[in-house]
Amino acid sequence: MKLRELLRTDLEDLEDYVPVKPLDVLAAEIGLPVERLVKLDANENLYGPHPEVLEAIRSAPFHIYPDPGQQALREAIARFLDVEAENVVAGTGADDLLDILIRLVMPKAIAIPTPTFGMYRFLAKISRAKPIEVPRRPNFDLDVVALKHAVQAGAGIVFLTSPNNPTGNPVNRAELEAICALDTLVVVDEAYIEFGGESVVSMIASHPNLVVLRTFSKWAGLAGLRVGYSVSDPELASHMMSLKQPYNVNVAADAGARAALAHFAEIKETIASIVAERDRMARLCAELGWLTPLPSQANFVLFAVGERRAVDVAAALRSKGVLVRYYERPDLVNYIRISAGRPEDTDRLLAVLREI
Ligand SMILES: *Cc1c(COP(=O)(O)O)cnc(C)c1O
Repeated sequence: MKLRELLRTDLEDLEDYVPVKPLDVLAAEIGLPVERLVKLDANENLYGPHPEVLEAIRSAPFHIYPDPGQQALREAIARFLDVEAENVVAGTGADDLLDILIRLVMPKAIAIPTPTFGMYRFLAKISRAKPIEVPRRPNFDLDVVALKHAVQAGAGIVFLTSPNNPTGNPVNRAELEAICALDTLVVVDEAYIEFGGESVVSMIASHPNLVVLRTFSKWAGLAGLRVGYSVSDPELASHMMSLKQPYNVNVAADAGARAALAHFAEIKETIASIVAERDRMARLCAELGWLTPLPSQANFVLFAVGERRAVDVAAALRSKGVLVRYYERPDLVNYIRISAGRPEDTDRLLAVLREI
């Protein structure tokens, strides 16, 4: 028996989503201690979680299976957003909900306005949905006409991101209305909405084909805990609840997420610091003369690197312990994305940028 003959053959080119490496692995590769690294490559919250969130995680009932109905968490999220618990589904990060939605629809194709988050293409391919990349316009706004054509060509899901990763711009409301009028499921990924841009959660009441995704990974500093949620029409939510893995949200994630919501008012101060730091970083980098920031509503900034190659800039920064994101995609070869950190992280970044 040949193992290969038992396996799918359509996944051989699946290296699309390149996840970031663990910090200790990176530190060993670069030859610096972990404490010397400035991690500005994955849009994480470098302040980390609120102390009460850590306390809640520590006291989670680890010996008991989690609630498959996610009742307490869905109610807490519903109160936070002023919707009903039946509109909400929680997942092992927003990524889990993306996968649940794809498996619920099993579309022939999925429309992905590019450049954007690489996970959409990766998950589409795993579920044998054809990713239809729909290039954004030169200013990175959506191309609504081209999206309409993608839906006519069989895209049963359109993934929109607001603000978009890595370009930082939000989806405009009129364009979203036009896309929701099409015969397709429209997913608006609001992974960065707590940092800026206007949420479209209120539109779910009047748009049964609209799903909004959120995550605790970015604003709450819980990327490693893996917890996110969707908000949608209750009928769609109930189908998602039936299809998800029963225990997808573990007890630590459940407790941590609820504590983060309970302490939102205080965490908001950290969010405000990150937003202020984003703007300071963009201004200081622009003053260097060769980095051009795009306006961003998220916790990162995309910079055009001018005459230099982004991969070289990223490598030079990395050799000094500063990690930023660069891309292989042709439409992003001249850009680097830098996450907003604490003031000391920006200071280190600028010191290294002045050296290279
Ligand atoms: C980071 C990110 C996510 C990931 O969310 P998780 O909750 O960590 O799975 C989803 N969407 C976008 C656009 C992101 O940048």
